Amino acid sequence: ISLAQLINGLLRDVEDFPQPGVRFKDITPLLADAAAFGACIDELADLPGAYEADVIAGVEARGFVVAAALARAVDAGVVPVRKAGKLPPPTLSARYDLEYGSAEIEVPTGLLEGKRVYVVDDVLATGGTLAAAIDLLSRAGATVTGVGVLVELSFLKGRARLDGHDLRALLTL
Ligand code: 5GP
Repeated sequence: ISLAQLINGLLRDVEDFPQPGVRFKDITPLLADAAAFGACIDELADLPGAYEADVIAGVEARGFVVAAALARAVDAGVVPVRKAGKLPPPTLSARYDLEYGSAEIEVPTGLLEGKRVYVVDDVLATGGTLAAAIDLLSRAGATVTGVGVLVELSFLKGRARLDGHDLRALLTL
């Protein structure tokens, strides 16, 4: 079977989480499966922009898991993109709209100038989070070499918010 099929078989649909009306894709079974997780990391490492990165940026919290594993595969470092208030200063922050309300994320400054950064997360939904992350990394002086996710929920049209960036997904739903 293909990697996409393998991933699809290890996702769990959770109705009405984290709020009513949302069908959440739980990737926990995928991360818990040694062969599938390893295959995902190998595939990400082969995507355009990953191998030449100095640093892998992962979005809190499931993106951290992907970022750390990928960083070892491509011999890069890791930088966290965190929810506001978690990183010590100095940081740069960006606020962005969610379906309901807004959210704020931050990156550390001082580590990113002149670095080539590949950005990862587990799931691309509306794209607001990754768009804000890319904006922050660029403002911090990094060059974004590409964006990789395990799963893209294409019906939410997040890809449209990342125009100009090479977004790849291992599974598109
Ligand atoms: P977006 O900003 O693209 O709407 O939301 C993406 C963020 O929310 C990502 O950090 C992602 O981890 C999380 N997210 C949104 N929907 C899902 C989902 O169905 N499953 C998982 N695992 N994460 C989701």
